[in-house]
Amino acid sequence: MTPIGVFAGRKVALFGLGGSGLVTARALIAGGADVSAFDDNPVSRDKAAGEGISIVDLAQADWSGFAALVLAPGVPLTHPVPHWTVEKAKAAGIEIIGDIELFFRERSKVAPAAPVVCITGTNGKSTTTALIAHVLRSAGRDVQMGGNIGTAVLALEPPADGRIHVIECSSYQIDLAPSMAPTIGIQMNLTPDHLDRHGTFENYGAIKERLVANADIAVIGVDDEASKQMARRRAASGRKLVKISGEQPLDDGVFAGITANAGTLETRIVQVLDGKPRIVANLAGIGSLRGSHNAQNAAAAFAACFALRLSAEEIAAGFKSYPGLAHRMEEIGRVGRVVFINDSKATNADSTEKALTSFREIFWILGGKAKEGGIESLTRYFPNIAKAYLIGAASDLFAATFDDDGRVAYERSGTLDVAVAHAARDALANSGDKVGGAGEIAVLLSPACASFDQFPNFEVRGDAFRALVKALPGFEAFGAG
Ligand code: ADP
Repeated sequence: MTPIGVFAGRKVALFGLGGSGLVTARALIAGGADVSAFDDNPVSRDKAAGEGISIVDLAQADWSGFAALVLAPGVPLTHPVPHWTVEKAKAAGIEIIGDIELFFRERSKVAPAAPVVCITGTNGKSTTTALIAHVLRSAGRDVQMGGNIGTAVLALEPPADGRIHVIECSSYQIDLAPSMAPTIGIQMNLTPDHLDRHGTFENYGAIKERLVANADIAVIGVDDEASKQMARRRAASGRKLVKISGEQPLDDGVFAGITANAGTLETRIVQVLDGKPRIVANLAGIGSLRGSHNAQNAAAAFAACFALRLSAEEIAAGFKSYPGLAHRMEEIGRVGRVVFINDSKATNADSTEKALTSFREIFWILGGKAKEGGIESLTRYFPNIAKAYLIGAASDLFAATFDDDGRVAYERSGTLDVAVAHAARDALANSGDKVGGAGEIAVLLSPACASFDQFPNFEVRGDAFRALVKALPGFEAFGAG
């Protein structure tokens, strides 16, 4: 835990006692603050009270004595309307901050030179965060990883000389961290998301930009217009900028070059320093980093780790052993040329698109609770589909799309167990066909749907897929599996 001493001896109001809020309350108390905590949920309140955290009805409390309102990131600060605690804090004239802000204030007190890498963007945050932490650890560094991924930031070990914190930041967390100033700030990409909480795309982008604007070194993706503008503004400020791209050559920075080789796409990471390009890593054969989206993630991770003085060789070696994150194009194993991929996190067509671009011959399991727009946007990848297996409530809708298009063979499998059995049977029977017998054949769960009709969440759906695949006759799991 990172005890927060910056409010020692002062009164602090804290709202939101879910996962990270509870940790924040503990950290403030451990640092000597007098915390008055509240949550609408009685279960959360009781849990906190059981640990000795003082529960105070903040709606009735006298706010004049509080030094700050510490807010959980899930609680609306501005949109759709500010939470009532925010109005109370404003009326009392006190600051409103979150756990990342507390972390940075503590760091400037106890170890101001301790390196901190913060990662944000609409997509790829978790992958890039996990990849950077893995590469640094593989090179023997002392690493703490958390924030919006896995462990709440204040549950990590405190900042210390020689210890590197790698922190994933959501826009909500950045909004509550006015003085965050990471050693390296990474902004991956920006597409409209969470606009209910940020009002406009411009406001959402402006919040993300704060993370890089205050960083000693800014690493910024230039594959979308809004992020490109952020890079321009950073360059104009004269402060250190490393541009990254997953899809286009750059005259300065780190980019991915993608080539087709015998039915498989190969990606090389290229670093351009002082106008001189050099290939620094090859992602070919790294199952956990397939696809152009992961090329962008790897480019960002390279830029960050290189700035932290790892050698290109150390970084390339770390990429090779990166195990990947569960449910995001997770390679479960293979039988001959047939590779089984769990992409259960792909709950919309945009995410599924990443998987469909990563393979040339796909036995695609999809369906669940459909999102608006269905899979209409994916028709250009239909030539890559050997056969589709429909499950869940979206079956009729998706069957209609396939019928309209006329190019995709499909069946209505109904449930995941049937789909896995049939897709595996067909893929194995086909493994000598197409692309001259080379290249990978994917049995891919990438549902393009929420799971709620058949599973409680995408994790349970992905776990079910993994278990079904591992139970297939002749399946050879590799790696830890
Ligand atoms: P986040 O933490 O930002 O949600 P993840 O790393 O968990 O991102 O990836 C979630 C999904 O987003 C992946 O399954 C993939 O479909 C897509 N994705 C990952 N990286 C990128 C990227 N760099 N650009 C666009 N999409 C991405």
